Amino acid sequence: MPRMSALDSALHQLAGAAEQLGLDDGMHQLLATPRRSMEVAVPLRRDDGSLTVLKGYRVQHNFSRGPAKGGIRFHPDTDLDEVRALAMWMTWKCALIGIPYGGAKGGVAVDPRSLSRIELERVTRRYASEIMPIIGPEKDIPAPDVGTEEQTMDWIMDTYSAHQGYTVTGVVTGKPVSIGGSQGRGGATSRGVMYAAFSALAEAGVDHRGATVAVQGFGKVGGLAAQYLHDAGCRVVAVSDVQGGVFRGAGLNPAALIARLREGAESVVGSPGTDTITNEELLELDVDVLVPAALDGVISEENADRVKARFVVEGANGPTTPDGDAVLEGNGTVVVPDILANSGGVAVSYFEWVQDLQAWFWSEDEVNDRLKGLMTRAYDDVSALAAERGISLRTAAQTIGVGRVADAHRTRGLYP
Ligand code: NAD
Repeated sequence: MPRMSALDSALHQLAGAAEQLGLDDGMHQLLATPRRSMEVAVPLRRDDGSLTVLKGYRVQHNFSRGPAKGGIRFHPDTDLDEVRALAMWMTWKCALIGIPYGGAKGGVAVDPRSLSRIELERVTRRYASEIMPIIGPEKDIPAPDVGTEEQTMDWIMDTYSAHQGYTVTGVVTGKPVSIGGSQGRGGATSRGVMYAAFSALAEAGVDHRGATVAVQGFGKVGGLAAQYLHDAGCRVVAVSDVQGGVFRGAGLNPAALIARLREGAESVVGSPGTDTITNEELLELDVDVLVPAALDGVISEENADRVKARFVVEGANGPTTPDGDAVLEGNGTVVVPDILANSGGVAVSYFEWVQDLQAWFWSEDEVNDRLKGLMTRAYDDVSALAAERGISLRTAAQTIGVGRVADAHRTRGLYP
């Protein structure tokens, strides 16, 4: 059976929230439909002189609560439907944590590892100039996602500013602090994953100190999530990346693994003192907490029954399909859903944008305190609704997010 696509998952989850909220068909349809989808050609002159034409996308799912916000992904499998799903999840996420944005997402179908640095810069600048008519600090503010990073944001900010004729720091978030970035943005998603995990563990009366953890995906989100969880007293026994995973029962040292990658290692696989495992094996380890932090659709009905973790804290967007969700729920697994668990990134992106607009910058402690406040409140809202209605944390989170967006539409009315 073909795996459920990210868009099918997102629409299925929306239908669940619509049912909880008693939304009429018209409102349901309005929320299921992206406000604006853009597909662009990104012609690239390769270093050898040849020309390749890549496909790029930017989808703005909703603007009812403010400008659209969401990351840009460089990945060979990126397509319009995936970007639509990711944009929709951004809308609910921003509403859930109470920041004044709608949702967007973008991407280029390319493997960034197959490009030289100068080719990557050319792709980024050309893509930025193609989507320029629809982005801007009041319209749509991109950020990093899979396969993009601070440097990508710098090039987009520079390209946009060059065309405006002045520096516009607020057009993207996830920039370095030296050019208008926020303290704490680099680790914000991962820090939020940790807060979400600790809230779920505390609610179940489980001490996080000594809890065993496995993290799939050792990139921007997974790498630092592993490190923060380790630093807070958890035992991180396994991590992985696209090439495979490593296991050490006595606990890994994530900071050392990150340092090894910075020094040029291509993968966590092969780290001294570790056993090699596959990504599939990692998902099925007997641990307390599983953090999927790579791509979508990795926990489905095919493997959900073999997931032994008591808590699944979704660092990635859409890692569990609705079929997989049903199996986990039946087994009593607590799933802290993506739009809650990984919302720390967009929360601090919002702080970055606010600081850019005011040209007034906050200390790291201020950023982290505000992040913790937003995430704790969102967790409490979700957990209270889940308990009140006897629904999963995912359905509760979706219901709160979707409900706030539907309210904004009702309050604003329909033009004309
Ligand atoms: P990244 O590119 O920095 O890291 C991705 C990691 O996943 C890498 O270690 C990569 O090797 C690994 N990976 C890729 N394909 C894989 C596969 N098939 N199997 C196993 N591992 C694989 O990306 P990121 O920014 O860390 O994003 C990871 C997830 O978190 C995505 O779902 C993204 O949408 C979500 N997310 C990111 C942010 C953010 O601030 N960066 C915020 C919220 C959610």
